[in-house]
Amino acid sequence: MDNKRLAQLLFPDVTATPEDMEKRFPERDLPKKAEVTRMGPSPTGFIHLGNLYSALADERIAHRNGGVFYLRIEDTDEKRKVDGAVDIIINALRYFNIEFDEGAGFPDDAPNNQYGPYVQRQRVDIYHVYAKDLVEKGLAYPCFCEEDALEKVRQEQEEAKVLTGYYGKYATCRNLTLEQIEENLKANKPYVLRLRSNGDPEKEITFVDSIKGEIKLPENIHDVVLLKKDGVPTYHFAHAIDDHLMRTTVVIRGGEWLASVPIHYELFHVLGFKMPKYGHTAHLMKIDEETGGKRKLSKRKDPELSLDYYRKDGYHPLAMKVYLLTLLNSNFEEWHEKYPDKDINEFPFSIDKMNQSGALFDKDKLHSICKNELSKLSEYEMYDFMEDWAKNNDKTEVLEWLSDKEKMLNVFRLCMGIGQKRRRKDFEYATQIADMIRYFFVAEEIKDSFKFDEDTVSDIIKTYLASYNHEEDNSAWFNKLKETAEKLGFASDMKAYKANPENYKGNVSDIAEVIRIGVTGMANSPDLWTINHIIGEDEMRARLTRFVK
Ligand code: GLU
Repeated sequence: MDNKRLAQLLFPDVTATPEDMEKRFPERDLPKKAEVTRMGPSPTGFIHLGNLYSALADERIAHRNGGVFYLRIEDTDEKRKVDGAVDIIINALRYFNIEFDEGAGFPDDAPNNQYGPYVQRQRVDIYHVYAKDLVEKGLAYPCFCEEDALEKVRQEQEEAKVLTGYYGKYATCRNLTLEQIEENLKANKPYVLRLRSNGDPEKEITFVDSIKGEIKLPENIHDVVLLKKDGVPTYHFAHAIDDHLMRTTVVIRGGEWLASVPIHYELFHVLGFKMPKYGHTAHLMKIDEETGGKRKLSKRKDPELSLDYYRKDGYHPLAMKVYLLTLLNSNFEEWHEKYPDKDINEFPFSIDKMNQSGALFDKDKLHSICKNELSKLSEYEMYDFMEDWAKNNDKTEVLEWLSDKEKMLNVFRLCMGIGQKRRRKDFEYATQIADMIRYFFVAEEIKDSFKFDEDTVSDIIKTYLASYNHEEDNSAWFNKLKETAEKLGFASDMKAYKANPENYKGNVSDIAEVIRIGVTGMANSPDLWTINHIIGEDEMRARLTRFVK
């Protein structure tokens, strides 16, 4: 077969060569240890926790040693395209403080965008250079088989219980003569371009996965499609060329791509490229509530797989990042405990320490990390965080609360334990925080019921209010509570109460609890005197008066 002639027939307009591409996209001039990593999402606009998990690993690997993290849009599958997807992806990652250095989303003439275009459909001419070259070398050929013919073969293969696909004796177009091809082309028959695979079903490749280590996989034997009927490449073909020409050195990506490695391995080989290091992440797992067993997080069943879930509920991005790093690198948690105030970006992230089997996603753990991280914020940072969340999610009620900034800051000081012996660790995420502080702004329904009957509650509140003086300090106020207790037959002294509880209706802490429930709706709250002073005397009186008969 005259391959040169065939190549010319198929790609008459392609004049550039692989050597030209090498020159157009030269090696990057980077420090020695710097890695070039990327994220290659398809433009569906949906990126989930698993994508974020891999992207964070890529970003850390790039940025820990002055490397590059770029965004490439893999839009070879038109059906999955959503308008505005690039912005959605960039913003989703930006929320978690993950920034790209180059790629899609940057202006075309940005000085750092030397390896573009970064959208695959805009690179079709580049892929054709390699497609033509492979045809010239006899490593690719046009296939004119129609869908139903392929389907028929597939059925036969299934019946014969052999591997399905286009390979070996089933790859009928492998053997077309140049004359036959020319005839088909003249008749305008549509065709795809296929790899002429050299794989041997008896042989294995040894693939060194950056995370999982050495893995043996069967050689690819399929004559996989390189270019579809419209000349657009398949993901496999495009990504191999792009990862090479964009001078990528490391890719951490989802575990679902491991099964395609034999194809990629052969493609890199026939294209004459050195394969970057690929690491396939472990699946995110969770404990199934019904069975108690471990299972993969699923798009359908688990809303927590979607990143929107965290933005809507207002998880602090720093806490999310700490949590993901805890899952990603086994030594991160210890490091973070040892240096709680160091910027987490200083953590020496390493691929070696990555989780090899399923990483268990555990909400309780996430929440405990949230509590810890939020307890490091100042009241001002907390204010800004809540304001951003409320604005982005149209939380009008919370925005109204926030409009009294001084009051809100006082609420945060109290609820976060700022200025107290120990910081409180009650806050987890914005929705939960809003619920927790609602009572400062709205007279809440009673959540915890009173321990006493209505008449006793009424008497306690009446007596308390009668002597209440808003100007008094915390300890004078507490003395008044004791007086209230005594007046009503409650013990003011805990020791005396414990010695003879039967002599009393209760004790001073019962009095405090009634007032607390009356004001906040709950039996547990931060310091009551301070709450009274944040909400103000009138509001306190109004709330308590609800229970006076
Ligand atoms: N385009 C692929 C996806 O949508 C990315 C695969 C890869 O990272 O190589 O997930």
